[in-house]
Amino acid sequence: LALDPRDAAAQTVTPLVPVPRYGALPPLEVGCVRYLVAGNGIFVEARSRAMTVRALLCRPEGKLPYGSLEPCVRKVGGGIPRALQDRFIAHARTQLPNEAGGLILWRSNAYELVLPEPEEASPGRIRYSMHDIDPLDIVIDMHTHGFGSAFFSVRDDVDDKACPAPCFKAIVFGHLNRAQPSMAERFVLNGWAADDRLVAEQL
Ligand SMILES: [Zn+2]
Repeated sequence: LALDPRDAAAQTVTPLVPVPRYGALPPLEVGCVRYLVAGNGIFVEARSRAMTVRALLCRPEGKLPYGSLEPCVRKVGGGIPRALQDRFIAHARTQLPNEAGGLILWRSNAYELVLPEPEEASPGRIRYSMHDIDPLDIVIDMHTHGFGSAFFSVRDDVDDKACPAPCFKAIVFGHLNRAQPSMAERFVLNGWAADDRLVAEQL
């Protein structure tokens, strides 16, 4: 029976891969996303130029007849220098009471802070153009909530889902008037927001 072309397209973009019990799992190509059925769960895995992230979506009741996996984050460049986040926070304080946005990219084998020119900035919204940013280079997408608290708003959910990067870390900083701003963070893979269920090393 021929596959409906829409299903064929969907399965090409987001294939479902059974995890081998005895052999090795083939590596994921840069820019790709796949779903993995393992003995101990269903995972989503995505790879940018900067990193590969694998997040657990659900655990089965029993054990499925496949190899086991664990959630993981592998960054090509290793740990991200703390100074880049500190520089972003210093910049964001100069933008108060407005929100601010910035990106940490992995480009030319180095981490780099980019502060795109805002198209819209207010105490409740930050929007900037991504036209000269390659989504595959994005490691962290940061924005602030000014004097407000750090959390992922409904609008943040919409923005993160719409981001063309296969995987990235999203961080919100709040209470920028305090010495230690508040912070909320999560990984986003192919529109899935992975937070407490994703076991990940500290960025
Ligand atoms: Zn927000």
